[in-house]
Amino acid sequence: MNLQLLRGRDLRPPSRRVSLPAAVSETTSAALISPSPLEAPARKKTLSFPVDRDSRAFYRRFYPDTSAAEWNDWRWQMRTRIRTLSELERVFALSADERQAVAGHTGSLPVGITPYYASLMGLTDAQEPLRRTHIMVGDEYVRQPGEEDDPLGEDHDTVVPGLVHRYPDRVLFLTTGTCSTYCRYCTRSRLVGNPGGEYQFNVRNWEMAFAYLEEHSEVRDVLLSGGDPLTIGDDKLDYLLGRLRAIKHIEFVRIGTKMPTVLPQRVTKDLVKVLKKHHPLWVSLHFTHPKELTPEVTESTARLADAGIPLGSQTVLLRGINDDAAVMKTLMHGLLKRRVKPYYLYQCDPIKGSSHFRTPVSKGLEIISALRGHTTGYATPMFVIDAPGGGGKILMNPDFVVGREGDDILLRNFEGKVYRYPDPGGTLGSDKHLPIAAE
Ligand code: SF4
Repeated sequence: MNLQLLRGRDLRPPSRRVSLPAAVSETTSAALISPSPLEAPARKKTLSFPVDRDSRAFYRRFYPDTSAAEWNDWRWQMRTRIRTLSELERVFALSADERQAVAGHTGSLPVGITPYYASLMGLTDAQEPLRRTHIMVGDEYVRQPGEEDDPLGEDHDTVVPGLVHRYPDRVLFLTTGTCSTYCRYCTRSRLVGNPGGEYQFNVRNWEMAFAYLEEHSEVRDVLLSGGDPLTIGDDKLDYLLGRLRAIKHIEFVRIGTKMPTVLPQRVTKDLVKVLKKHHPLWVSLHFTHPKELTPEVTESTARLADAGIPLGSQTVLLRGINDDAAVMKTLMHGLLKRRVKPYYLYQCDPIKGSSHFRTPVSKGLEIISALRGHTTGYATPMFVIDAPGGGGKILMNPDFVVGREGDDILLRNFEGKVYRYPDPGGTLGSDKHLPIAAE
């Protein structure tokens, strides 16, 4: 696309949906950028989407009056999300622990599960991996030492509401507080799912963010996150992306989203048309477990990849859910088959009430060791810890340097064999004791 032409076109917001009368309250304006439950169903041409056999059985059982067209309509999925204890109990056989935890919940990070994503979960097994990531339990109320509401210190680096500027050349743009599903380990648990609370994202905030970005020519990369930016309707998303791409020093935009995983029907052909207008655009997806690799997700990722959008994925390492090398390898292989590059494997951030999800750091290194060299390099993500207090991502690697002999550095390969590499003048490895002879 000719960017000059794009920059020259009228980038005023779509007036019917976005422009704000002076008297509109902050809370009301926050609602404006979330999909309205009253909006008309998607047009018929956007409804073609595969429905997996298990999902079909699920919706026939729990939503018997629902047509395939409605099931495949992302707005129906958003409107029909499972949000309350009684809705959960209609679908799931809850444990006493789950029931009590859900009943006692207040504030941000409420329950939210799309019917599609619920169809992948264990209905009777409280230990089923996807269910554990979305239905709260009593452990969520236990705050361990070191856990914080905002462990990454994002609030400290917030320059205007919703815009976090920590690194010199890039910013995090929190576009909305709404997600289609709410993950119990969410780093932004303090601010998502609670648009009437302290944290609000609305069009006025967007305008402040645009003004900041226009003034800061050092910013070349904008990551849209939230909340989930794809919960925003197509026209508003088009406006947002258009405004950003019209800022000359912004070289590219990334969207961080879980929607193509938990609500793949969101990737309509109309959405893809909007996204394609704003290249170079990258999308970071969020996957947790191989159970998510359904025919629906094959379709959503194919539509994005076919639109020329590079796809990466982020996975949070979660105890008892995906902390297993075989599970992780299956997930990573499945992503590559869908043209998604596994990018980050995150150590679970120390948000309050998350200790039941966290593994020892050594577990992540063990999984990386089981992948690296044992499978395609593209299938091995970077294992990172996001340093508490705003230190940024720190790459964690198994140590492959085992010692030094004179001018040779001694390295261990993926099979545990030790090899020499000529490194005259170097000192790396000289502080280590070689346990076995090099080949
Ligand atoms: S989709 Fe992302 S922002 Fe929303 S709750 Fe899950 S991790 Fe948090």
